[in-house]
Amino acid sequence: MTTRRLYYDDAFEKEFTARVMHCEVLPPDVKSGITGTVWGLILDRTAFYPTSGGQPNDLGKIGDANVLDVRDEGEEILHLVDRKPSDPDVNGCINWPRRFDHMQQHTGQHLLSAMFQERFGLPTVSFHLGGEICTIDLRGPEPTPQFLEGAERAATQIIFEDRPVNVRYGTADQLSQLGVRKEVDRKGILRAIEIEAADLQPCGGTHVKSTGQIGVVLVRRCSKVRQDWRVEFVCGGRAERIARHDFQLLREVAEKLSCATDDVVSAATGAIAERDAHFKNYRAVLQRLAEAEATLALQHAPADSHGLRMVSRVCEGVPADFLGFFATEIAKTEKTMALLAQAADGHLLFAQHPAAGKDMNALLKGVFEKFGGKGGGTRDFARGRLNEAASAAQALSLAKEMLAA
Ligand SMILES: [Zn+2]
Repeated sequence: MTTRRLYYDDAFEKEFTARVMHCEVLPPDVKSGITGTVWGLILDRTAFYPTSGGQPNDLGKIGDANVLDVRDEGEEILHLVDRKPSDPDVNGCINWPRRFDHMQQHTGQHLLSAMFQERFGLPTVSFHLGGEICTIDLRGPEPTPQFLEGAERAATQIIFEDRPVNVRYGTADQLSQLGVRKEVDRKGILRAIEIEAADLQPCGGTHVKSTGQIGVVLVRRCSKVRQDWRVEFVCGGRAERIARHDFQLLREVAEKLSCATDDVVSAATGAIAERDAHFKNYRAVLQRLAEAEATLALQHAPADSHGLRMVSRVCEGVPADFLGFFATEIAKTEKTMALLAQAADGHLLFAQHPAAGKDMNALLKGVFEKFGGKGGGTRDFARGRLNEAASAAQALSLAKEMLAA
């Protein structure tokens, strides 16, 4: 049997009565994400919109059952509910805030797509109404920021004019004479949505009564997706929430930067330049510190019988970057080696003056064989990290033993 779709003629019908024509327990469907026993209901009439044409399904109640999903099954509409209605005559109630939000987004999409087509010759090839953001995919050359703003402003103008949004019926031929651009394969009487003097589209979805109810259209951003341009936008209540959220963010950032909201870009640019300058100074200071510490350390590192000198140290309370500077400074001295560890995180750094003639990479690998860790490098410079920071001192002792062997 055919379910009568009440939303075709009145998208503002929030409550309705109907008769249950069919009710059965559905087999589990893991893909739907719905768990527990689910009944499939077919009614003689319904105001529930099933997922189709880019618009998600309605939610709400049928009798005392919660509607979990609504599916378009050709002639029939299948309602997935969490319990069996106790009476064959039921009251249906649509979750209205959700539906109205969908109607604002969907009608806004018709309007925005019409503006892109009419003003810039960019047809819409697909539409997605997401939980947070809506998107349309446009085909053609890249829409410039001027295009995006132009389409948004043109849509806003039509919202201000509060033009009626009408439902029209006709055959494909009749609709094409009325100005429907899209080719339609379906036979018989078709439904089309008209935004007066702006757009006419075949569509089975739900829409607001006039453009004023869209409230506002905000175009967010545009990115390339395969061959098309995906434009993100929001309408109505979503646009209002997003605009408020954006301004709150802006104010928080301004507060952090201690500036007026209009000055955040220059204040952030200044803060980043300052940070970069501090980083440069910090590196220069680390370098000076490494030079001084290396000089000091080498005074306490006498040469052995082969003329080799070694500095071995578990470093504490210095930044991890320091190890690299320190090792490089030490290894500048003829026939000298540095075996360094960072106590806090188990970083190891082995470096040598090439004339020392050992293999730092092999040494590091040898230490990791015993204590576990990851890293590598060259003959003269190798670094890595122990699995256990606590074994840093033992790891250096082993490295020294291996060098002596
Ligand atoms: Zn539509």
